[in-house]
Amino acid sequence: MPIYEYECAKCQAISTFLILRQEDAARVVCKGCGSKKMSQLISRVTYHRSESDRLAEFNTRKPRGEEFYKDSRNVGLWAKKRAKELGADLGPQFDEIVESARTGKILEKYDL
Ligand SMILES: [Zn+2]
Repeated sequence: MPIYEYECAKCQAISTFLILRQEDAARVVCKGCGSKKMSQLISRVTYHRSESDRLAEFNTRKPRGEEFYKDSRNVGLWAKKRAKELGADLGPQFDEIVESARTGKILEKYDL
């Protein structure tokens, strides 16, 4: 699940954000002071993959257009499938997080 921690350069507060798209990363601001000077910390959910792995994955993946994201069900399915493919152990909370992302409840939860 693309949940990342960011540290504020101004007040050192750590905030957690759900980053589903590149635009989400651009909107990251400190939840403590509102500063945009945020640096990403190593996520608790990390994947250790080589450059060639990423390249192979990129070449074989079907491009997902705007239509894909318009159906919220796809987001949950995609996240689950990707996690399984990557062999990531996301723990018992994963389904709950996916479900809240799918239904839009996650927006309240993570204060996006
Ligand atoms: Zn701050």
